[in-house]
Amino acid sequence: MLATLITALLSCPAAQTAAAPTDFAARFTGRTLRFDYHHCGDATHEQIAPDGFRLEGEWAGSRTQLTDALDYGKYRFVVRDAAGGATLWSQGFCSIYGEWETTGEAKRQWRAFHESQRFPEPRNAVTLHLEKRANDLSWREFWRGECDPASRFVDRSPVTARGGVMPIDVKGDPATKVDLLIIGDGWTGRQRDDFIDDVHRLTGALFATEPFQRRRGDFNVRAIMAPAPQPGVADPRGGKFIDTPIRLQFNAFDLDRYMLTFANRELRELAAQAPYDALILLANTRKYGGGGIYNLWATCAADTEPAAYVFVHEFGHSFGGLADEYYSSQVAYEEFTPAGTEPWEPNVTALHDPARLKWRDLVAAGTPLPTPWDQAAYDELDVAYQKRRAEALAANADDATNEALMREIKASGGAQLAKEPWFGQVGAFRGGAYEPTNLYRPSVDCIMFTRNPTAFCPVCERAIERVIDTLAR
Ligand SMILES: [Zn+2]
Repeated sequence: MLATLITALLSCPAAQTAAAPTDFAARFTGRTLRFDYHHCGDATHEQIAPDGFRLEGEWAGSRTQLTDALDYGKYRFVVRDAAGGATLWSQGFCSIYGEWETTGEAKRQWRAFHESQRFPEPRNAVTLHLEKRANDLSWREFWRGECDPASRFVDRSPVTARGGVMPIDVKGDPATKVDLLIIGDGWTGRQRDDFIDDVHRLTGALFATEPFQRRRGDFNVRAIMAPAPQPGVADPRGGKFIDTPIRLQFNAFDLDRYMLTFANRELRELAAQAPYDALILLANTRKYGGGGIYNLWATCAADTEPAAYVFVHEFGHSFGGLADEYYSSQVAYEEFTPAGTEPWEPNVTALHDPARLKWRDLVAAGTPLPTPWDQAAYDELDVAYQKRRAEALAANADDATNEALMREIKASGGAQLAKEPWFGQVGAFRGGAYEPTNLYRPSVDCIMFTRNPTAFCPVCERAIERVIDTLAR
């Protein structure tokens, strides 16, 4: 692709003064307000159609850091005081719509996706603003609306109790903890203990990984599981359709392994029973798959052999705002990062100016930028693997066959990467975020690149820790 657009390196957002706790009490009630809407359009149009407002329970987010200083995300939601215009709250995010609009289908037809924005319930009338990131990384408002929290248009009915909220590891006040809520889908009522075992196994893997390990005391973990009519979740390519409580399904965007839910309202009503900052949706299936969208949620197949890896990798997307560092696997996106632009994600770069690399401070003196690695040798292995994976998919291979294939590439690919002279060092290695040539990643290997390592690279680790810092104080 020809890089013709003027680009800008990711710049730090203007310093924003965090509101003191007394300001929070003056401006907000301490509960959570949810704004539901339909996000619709095609490759060239984008519209917001409001659906309604819903009062949820206690606000689980920070009460001292109310505006988003991280500046991650394709979109940003901003709440302003209707009287004075002051920014009261803001949050960057990504969405299913934001991914879908980069697929081929968006060139042919319109679609609508149900979305929600949750924010602390304001005491007075506010204006709501949805902004989208431009190619130079600045923000452009594309929708605004009004919200009077005292109006009859806010649904204040109690949230329906379903499934039961299970405290897995609750350490303290939601206001000063990261509240992680795991929602199970595809377990029957009789399989509740199996679900709880899976939650312990997978959160155990997460908290064995840095930076989560050293920050474990900053997390509360809860789980909810509403019983499904039969085990498993929908698998359209396998001809399997099940009406599960949050309707997780494989084959999103017609990609077999991509598991999402489009039933946002059902999911939000179930989740609203517990305080939460982050959601992970678990599916009772051995079929390999998952997904993760920044500040939306992560999904994970609980019983696939690499489930622990999928759980941590997808949470890297949804919680840390991390990009995929791989570039060869089949995806539906036709241009995920517009040509010639610097990605907003903290762990990939177009490397237009090595001196201003956004993780420059983590690069040791003497490390060349870009940093050499034998991409051709790795690609040769990977192309052969992707071909066999495609053949297995076409032949509708069983889970054991697919797992054996993944073990094989892990052994050969992992050994290949470990031989690289700059292995384990931070640099800028060509290939990342679905782009083999135009984008660079921080390390030879990372949880966001392959299934080989058990650690995030230092750049990803730091990005995740910054998110923890914004929620746990
Ligand atoms: Zn990384």
